[in-house]
Amino acid sequence: MVNRRTLLGTAGALGATTLGACASVEVHVRKGQGPAEPPRMPFSVPAVTIPVAGTDLHYPVRRIYCIGRNYAAHAREMGSDPTREPPFFFQKPTDAIQFVAPGTVADHPYPTLTKNYHYEVELVAALHKGGRDIPVARALDHVYAYALGLDMTRRDLQRGMGDQKKPWEIGKSFDRSAPIGPLHRVGQVGHYSKGNIWLKVNGQTKQNADLSQMIWNVAEQISRLSEAFELFPGDIIYSGTPENVGPVVKGDRIDCHIDGLPGLSIRIT
Ligand code: MN
Repeated sequence: MVNRRTLLGTAGALGATTLGACASVEVHVRKGQGPAEPPRMPFSVPAVTIPVAGTDLHYPVRRIYCIGRNYAAHAREMGSDPTREPPFFFQKPTDAIQFVAPGTVADHPYPTLTKNYHYEVELVAALHKGGRDIPVARALDHVYAYALGLDMTRRDLQRGMGDQKKPWEIGKSFDRSAPIGPLHRVGQVGHYSKGNIWLKVNGQTKQNADLSQMIWNVAEQISRLSEAFELFPGDIIYSGTPENVGPVVKGDRIDCHIDGLPGLSIRIT
C-alpha cells in the first residue's frame, strides 16, 4: 500500500505524458490488493461536457476536430481551389466549448489580440464509437448526436500565421472559440445530409446554404479523420462552414440555424 501511494504520487508530479508508463507500474503493485483507488491528484481539472437534449445526460468531450474549407464557395473565398484539395483538419482544445442553451442569448467575449473576429456556422457531429480506418459505408454508425456550433476565428491571426507558413492555431484554438448548442441524438433526429444552414448578424442574413453542399460529407469526414487519428467516443467534429464568413464587433448579435435543430444565439461583449 505504501509503495502504491508513493508511485501514484510520483505519477501525478511527473504529469500526463508519463502517466501511461506509471499506470502499468500501478497495476503491477496493485496485484492482489483489492479494488483500485483512483490516483491522487494535486488538483482537479473540470471535465468538459455538452448537455444531451431530452435527457439528463452530459456528453463528455474528448477531442474537437474541425474540417477546413468544406464548402466549395467558402474554399474559393479563402483563396483555394476546392476541386483539387483533399480535406484537411485542425483541432480546438476541449475547453474552447461554450455551451449555449436554446432560447438564450449567451454573452461571448470578443477575444484578445484580434481586430478581425469572424463567425463560421457549422453542423457538429458527436461520436459514441471510435476506430481506425473506418470505411465510409459504416462511418455514420459512429455518430451519437448532432449539434449546431460556431467555429469562431481570429481571422487576422489565422491569415498572418498562414502567410508566414507558421501553424495558425492561435487563430482557431483559443478560449471559447467553439460555442455549441445541445446534442440531439441520432435516434431522435436522424442524420443530417441536407437542410438549410444560415447565420444572421443583427438580423441580417450573412451565411445561407444547404448542408448538401458540403464537399466531404460527415461519413467521409469520419473515414478520412480515422486514417490520420484513432477516433474515440467523445470526439466531436465541426463539419465546416459555408461561404460569406465575416467579422463581428462588440455589441453584435449572432443568430444561427440548421433545419431540425434549435437555434443558437450569442452576443459579442
Ligand atoms: Mn470552420
